[in-house]
Amino acid sequence: MAVPLLTVDLSALRQNWRALAALSETETAAVVKADGYGLGVGPVATALAREGARRFFVAVAEEGVTLRKVLGAGPEIYVFSGHMDGDADHIRAATLTPMINSIDQMLRHVEALPGHPFGIQLDTGMNRLGMEPGEWAALRDIALAQNPTLVMSHLACADEPEHGMNAFQLQTFRDMTDGIDAPRGLAATGGILLGRNYHFDLTRPGIGLYGGRPFADAAPVAHLDIPVIQVRDVAAGESVGYGNSWVARTPARIATIAAGYADGIIRAMGPKAHVFAGDARCKIVGRVSMDLIGVDVTHLDDQPETVSLLGHHQGVDDLADAAGTIGYEILTSLGARYARRYSGG
Ligand SMILES: *Cc1c(COP(=O)(O)O)cnc(C)c1O
Repeated sequence: MAVPLLTVDLSALRQNWRALAALSETETAAVVKADGYGLGVGPVATALAREGARRFFVAVAEEGVTLRKVLGAGPEIYVFSGHMDGDADHIRAATLTPMINSIDQMLRHVEALPGHPFGIQLDTGMNRLGMEPGEWAALRDIALAQNPTLVMSHLACADEPEHGMNAFQLQTFRDMTDGIDAPRGLAATGGILLGRNYHFDLTRPGIGLYGGRPFADAAPVAHLDIPVIQVRDVAAGESVGYGNSWVARTPARIATIAAGYADGIIRAMGPKAHVFAGDARCKIVGRVSMDLIGVDVTHLDDQPETVSLLGHHQGVDDLADAAGTIGYEILTSLGARYARRYSGG
């Protein structure tokens, strides 16, 4: 093996979907934007559909077109960015459901595609996408008369259960939607964990499916094994990598592994991150290069053929912590150069 191997454990993905679905009594959808959080929307969405997911969410219409080819007719595909200028052909051809975000989008949708299904996205305080209370009040009766298939909003702080923003957004969503007939949704992964008040008719987990926080019970889905190219002995006082940022204090054995920041291994994680050779933890030494990383293997009896960066010993959030980021960014940064294998589909 000359390139790193990314193994996507689809049975773990399916297990995570089931576990999240079991936490609410309502329908559970699946968010598969950004190529299934970087893990490959084809195999990911196919596995989730097989597990029972019937509604899917993507960020933009182009992703919806790709997803429709994967899923075939039947499942509903929602587009968070709604109906943007130039989207009408995609929305019609792939039978997508845009989440209408503004009065402008509503007008565009009914003019271009009268009678075509849509959902409504409301802004309850995040100030990112969706109609604000005043806009919604003006459009509400007209929009509801056309039977949106979903009315939803998104929580800004759901990964912090104690945050006052959660209750505030819940109340705002209630104020905007209580009494309507259309199905409602508020919860992504974090919202599912906040409890039944947040579940409404449809939950839409993303990161928890892929093994990330805040779903602490998630099974790891992404496994990344990186081949060792070369092992060398360095004497005390010798340095490793660009900028001489790491200097051996005592004689050391250093393995050079075949991945780097061009593969989405965030350069900033270098000084705090580890890889695993079997069960043994090995420190990353020196700067992460574009295609190479140095690893201290002094304490190992045998020279490893590969080391693991992601897997059972170290998950996406461990790596995110080392890099000062979030698991979402680790996953969606995973590189194009990896060999990919899907197991448990
Ligand atoms: C990305 C996204 C989700 C999924 O959120 P997770 O935190 O990954 O579960 C749900 N809803 C909206 C609007 C999103 O943008």
